[in-house]
Amino acid sequence: MNELLETLKITKTTHPKEKPDPAALGFGQVFTDHMFLLDYDEGQGWHDPVIVPYGPIPLEPAAAVFHYAQEMFEGLKTYISADGDGLRLFRPDMNAKRTNQTNARICIPLIDEEIYVGAIKALIGMDRDWAPDYPGTSLYIRPFIIATESFLGVRSSNSFKFIIILSPSGPYYKGGLTPTKIYVEDNYVRSAEGLTGDAKIGGNYVIGLKAQACAHEKGYDQVLWLDGKERRYVEEIGTSNAFFVIDGEVYTAPLTGTILPGITRDSVLTILRDRDIPVREERFTIHEVYQAADEGRLSEVFAAGTAAVISPVGEMLWKDRHITINGGEIGSLSQELYDTITGIQSGYLPDTHGWTVKL
Ligand SMILES: *Cc1c(COP(=O)(O)O)cnc(C)c1O
Repeated sequence: MNELLETLKITKTTHPKEKPDPAALGFGQVFTDHMFLLDYDEGQGWHDPVIVPYGPIPLEPAAAVFHYAQEMFEGLKTYISADGDGLRLFRPDMNAKRTNQTNARICIPLIDEEIYVGAIKALIGMDRDWAPDYPGTSLYIRPFIIATESFLGVRSSNSFKFIIILSPSGPYYKGGLTPTKIYVEDNYVRSAEGLTGDAKIGGNYVIGLKAQACAHEKGYDQVLWLDGKERRYVEEIGTSNAFFVIDGEVYTAPLTGTILPGITRDSVLTILRDRDIPVREERFTIHEVYQAADEGRLSEVFAAGTAAVISPVGEMLWKDRHITINGGEIGSLSQELYDTITGIQSGYLPDTHGWTVKL
């Protein structure tokens, strides 16, 4: 184990909470008995890892995170192994790497990837009996970092807290694999070249709330984001990566800085390439999508992300143009990708790429 983690101090809760009914779990509403904390101070680096009972964190009202949003987060899940021998993580090294890419973008000090994954494992070790064992459920892991320095000047904070909390969660979308209705947003944008679209930060989420609320008001589940400059190029669906199947080829936006490099996205692309299904990681326009739909060449649309894994799209509205995809039903490729990824995650299917980590 890493030297820093050898100094880990553990305080067990004296008031274990009652565990929720796994069949009735929502997403991100219930938290386990413990949390992990690690402090950073300039000159000292990351220091003093602890696991303590889950609870409020005292912060000064002037703490930088409250004013200038110097904050990042990650999201991954723990799955119960199909063979009944414990829990698995899915590609946690990728979350650690992405954390450092995000940190570099918003001036948060980098964190050793071994410590990062080790901290996740240590916390799950404490609360492993919180992992729900019911179809569609998982133990969701939320690592995040906040700027804690009490100072209102505008510059990077000189102190931070890295925190991990765990949440037993049900399916992200209550309807399971029911196709969603997507509103193509052509007014608000979430990203543009030079901005922070490829960093996993709360700031990217707050600027999307308004568009999401407007889409909900109109009866849509999520928005499809177009590029921030011309409102032409297809980027992401809500907070997940977007895929379009046109003429049997799978299109998704390239990683050129404006979209989040999803781990599910990478897993989807790897699986497609393994199966010799043609993949196009290139810019394409909403006009091309609609033209393909008009000509009967658009067979499937889906979103990919940790929370829902694969979420099929059944309908889209762009300006006044409404289209139905695959008769509003889940497509065969979406279903196959969902079954493959969730199968690898829980160990039903062979893990040929070494993606899962047994706990
Ligand atoms: C987290 C996130 C994704 C999905 O990434 P995964 O690693 O697959 O969970 C996609 N887009 C945005 C904007 C995100 O924040």
